Amino acid sequence: MCGITAYCGQNKALPFLMQGLSKLEYRGYDSAGVTTLEDHHLLTVKCKGRLTNLEEKLLSYKIEGTIGIGHTRWATHGIPSHLNSHPHNNKDETIALVHNGIIENYRELKEELLKEGYTFQSETDSEVVVQLLDHYYQGDLFKATLKVLQKIEGSYALCILSSLEPDKIIVAKKDSPLIIGKAQDAYVATSDIPALLEYTKDVYFLDDYEMAILQKDHIQFYTHEGVPIKKELTTIPYDLEAAKKDGYDTFMLKEIYEQPHVIQETMRGRINHDHISLDELKDIDFQQFHKVYFVACGTAYHASLCGAHVLEKLTRLPVISMVASEFRYNDPLIDENTLAIFVSQSGETADTLAALRLAKKYHATTIAIANVLGSTISRDADYVLYTCAGPEIAVASTKAYTTQLILLILLAYYIAQRLNKNVDLQLIHQLSHIPQYVEDILKDHTLFKEYAKLLENLHDAYFIGRGLDYASVLEGALKLKEISYVHADAYVAGELKHGPIALIENGSVVIAVALQPHIAAKTLSNIQETIARGAKVILLTTHNQEVKNIENTYYLPDIAPVLQSILVAIPLQLIAYYTACLKKCDVDKPRNLAKSVTVE
Ligand code: GLU
Repeated sequence: MCGITAYCGQNKALPFLMQGLSKLEYRGYDSAGVTTLEDHHLLTVKCKGRLTNLEEKLLSYKIEGTIGIGHTRWATHGIPSHLNSHPHNNKDETIALVHNGIIENYRELKEELLKEGYTFQSETDSEVVVQLLDHYYQGDLFKATLKVLQKIEGSYALCILSSLEPDKIIVAKKDSPLIIGKAQDAYVATSDIPALLEYTKDVYFLDDYEMAILQKDHIQFYTHEGVPIKKELTTIPYDLEAAKKDGYDTFMLKEIYEQPHVIQETMRGRINHDHISLDELKDIDFQQFHKVYFVACGTAYHASLCGAHVLEKLTRLPVISMVASEFRYNDPLIDENTLAIFVSQSGETADTLAALRLAKKYHATTIAIANVLGSTISRDADYVLYTCAGPEIAVASTKAYTTQLILLILLAYYIAQRLNKNVDLQLIHQLSHIPQYVEDILKDHTLFKEYAKLLENLHDAYFIGRGLDYASVLEGALKLKEISYVHADAYVAGELKHGPIALIENGSVVIAVALQPHIAAKTLSNIQETIARGAKVILLTTHNQEVKNIENTYYLPDIAPVLQSILVAIPLQLIAYYTACLKKCDVDKPRNLAKSVTVE
């Protein structure tokens, strides 16, 4: 994430670059920059912060170039700062580059380049690409790019501009979006359709492992091996508003569908064969800890419950999960042998931040898990791990939650490995299949729409599960109440008989999750108890369970139970989503809620 623009044409490049960046603004970003070719020289102007900062800065330059590249950055490597902003240049300032994505093997490449005498201006992974281009450049930018593409691993959309070959922009893509437009006066490239829609509706969708050379009146496509290929021109049928949401009706749906990609991004570079590598934590001596706290609010708290469960099972350390607003006022038992893990999408959640400060006061070691680089929590904690969900615009969290889950599971396995515990290698191998499973679940949503019809006219809904499934139903119930305003409560299935079952009557709807093999049968018995009292049940389980006379059963793929919390999040999100749609609620902006809760 986040946004790229490029223009190669007959008119000035800057207006296109800037309007494109402003269209990409809705995705959120922390810095922006442009490079244009002015009288055979590259001119790069960039700065931290909002696009208006860049616009102001640009006022003191005369920019006339007809070829240029632009970028809005959502930092993944290196805090938001002037130097870390894109475009990045080589030392001679003859090559400029913008990059969206993550270069997984940048550390190795950087070390090789440092040995060759290269110096680096920024802390980004992206700068490695421009220095590599410099290294391979021998009078042919295309050939140098081909060599670089063979070396880099990870995700990227790249736009490359050189004053040595001033008639072209080279673009390449793998796992990050890049669209090319054929406008009247130019060939242009952007990260998404809204950024070019005012100029043209005729586009080429660049696929992974494809690249192109853009010239003002010509375009040629290639594979990453340099083999020329042909691409079809497509005409976009929709308008700007629809395009911002990639054609989805809402940001929430768009974000739900982004999950296979962002889960992949969050795992990127963190699984090495049988090992989890979280280099950010390599200096921690995990032997010193007698106890672990997980602290968070809302959805992040539900993700923490899952992380805590897995960590305790693997390490047999006592692990306690607490809601941040409780932790900070309840005199928790913290000392220098405590590890405290704080989870917050925005990294600005007021209660979580206060809880972090309290833990630090009592000398705990603190780890933050955040989605926004450079956010307060990530700066204040001793160590930080980032989810790579990209900006989340819908208020109800979806992709931030599933990326938190994946990162917390990686963290639990990492700590277990560092403590020399026996870990299930099969699970580590299964992690790489998660994006595909999520993709498969997303393909068919008709069932979830049907389930939503059961909830549409209800006042209350009941969610039940046990163990890890309980954390999942807590999140499922939260999603439903947040966006559809159906009152939903989640219960440990074993607790039903101790009270809540009194509420079940004819027509009540119970959403049950039974994915943990050792206790699924117990949950299935509890389901029968509710059916006996007239409830309609929606069951999410696997084919391994013996399900009797439950009409609305959805079967999830049979994978390691620990990983099911990630998969089951998808049906639960979609059930909530379609219920809210049926009730005509404002899904992206539910009443009374804010995206980042910066007050206690
Ligand atoms: N990984 C790059 C960085 O942190 C690019 C981030 C982006 O896609 O904006 O600078």
